[in-house]
Amino acid sequence: MTPNVLEKALRDVVIANRILAHEGVVDAYGHVSVRHPLDPTRYLLSRSRAPELVERGDIVEFDLEGKSVGGDTRAPYLERFIHGAIYEARPDVQAVVHAHAEAVLPFTISATPLRPVVHMASFIGARIPVWDIRDNFGDTNLLVVNMAQGRDLARGLGGERVALMRGHGFVAAGRSLPEAIRIGVYMPVNARVLLDALRLGEVTALSRGEIEAHASMKPDDPAMWRAWEYWAVRAGCGDLLSART
Ligand SMILES: [Zn+2]
Repeated sequence: MTPNVLEKALRDVVIANRILAHEGVVDAYGHVSVRHPLDPTRYLLSRSRAPELVERGDIVEFDLEGKSVGGDTRAPYLERFIHGAIYEARPDVQAVVHAHAEAVLPFTISATPLRPVVHMASFIGARIPVWDIRDNFGDTNLLVVNMAQGRDLARGLGGERVALMRGHGFVAAGRSLPEAIRIGVYMPVNARVLLDALRLGEVTALSRGEIEAHASMKPDDPAMWRAWEYWAVRAGCGDLLSART
């Protein structure tokens, strides 16, 4: 039974990569991980590879410090520290997405806050902090390349679902992999709608009550599965889907 749980998690990470690529959330860069289903001090993440190309054999097990378990010597993502630092700080988080989606970037560099404005994006939460690596690390290449930077980002995220990264992208933390993917997919959608609406004039965002009403959906809700299955099939990996139990 136990190996099946791990095997499913490995397949799900492949599906998650393909979905994010197919939905245009990531390109050659960006990544997604899931916490190890049997060991909360580890997580599963691809080796350094474009998400669209990720296969089962590319998934590597890391400890929370970003060291590969089992001596895998293939090149890892430079920014893998994002994942371990968030899992370390947030026991409730089971999956993490990091992406540079273009539609979100204006909100990482302007004073206009990104707010959820459409109901499908209520999952991103009422408060979306903007983390600036320069605050504590000065001039860098903006990448999160060590645990100190990863932990600083995790502090910036706090207890929220999403944090923007100034001039860089965003990070999304989900209670399940389908939930993290849902947040990742709807982040750019919501940003595009908000940008369009701002051109028209005053904008009405979701209220805190509206956000909470929708965000109370359980991470294993059938509606969550429906989107996961749909996106997986669209991304060409319906054969990797496990029967829902
Ligand atoms: Zn990045």
